[in-house]
Amino acid sequence: MNLDQVRNSIRNIPDYPKPGIHFKDVSSAYQDGEVFNFISAAIFEKYKDYGITKVVGIESRGFILGGVLAEKLSAGFIPIRKPGKLPAKTYSKPYQLEYGFDTLEIHQDALSADDVVLIHDDLLATGGTVSAAIDLVGLFGVSKIYANFFIELDFLKGINKINKSVPVWSLIHF
Ligand code: AMP
Repeated sequence: MNLDQVRNSIRNIPDYPKPGIHFKDVSSAYQDGEVFNFISAAIFEKYKDYGITKVVGIESRGFILGGVLAEKLSAGFIPIRKPGKLPAKTYSKPYQLEYGFDTLEIHQDALSADDVVLIHDDLLATGGTVSAAIDLVGLFGVSKIYANFFIELDFLKGINKINKSVPVWSLIHF
């Protein structure tokens, strides 16, 4: 197994969910046990010595590898979810997507200032989603925040939108 094989396992769906969007379908990569294991092992290798105490996964595809990474890193898992999904008191942050607008929420007791946080999502497109997640994590006074993606769409330059104090690393680039 190598990165080219992982890359080739990601299905491209033209014009989904809207005309002009080329959707990268991670489910075609995650469904193969060898590929899924390679991906989680590679991301774990990158972050294993960073002292991560919490992995923050972004709904919904960020929950898949986010949970695996939290377990591998012996860290806690924190969900960031769409409005109305989290049952206890939340902080909210509206943001702009590549294809629309949305809001993200996090539980008010999810993090503390001394946490070392790894935010994970499946894909970085324009950077709006992860920027909202960074703002939510920042509300807790957390100073060490990292962001990781399985896939980064370099041509959308989402990296330029992300706060420069947050180191970003992605496994696969298109
Ligand atoms: P953005 O806020 O533009 O960086 O968008 C990132 C979020 O939208 C991630 O949670 C992705 O799952 C989803 N997303 C955006 N564009 C795509 C795409 N072309 N293929 C798959 N997922 C996408």
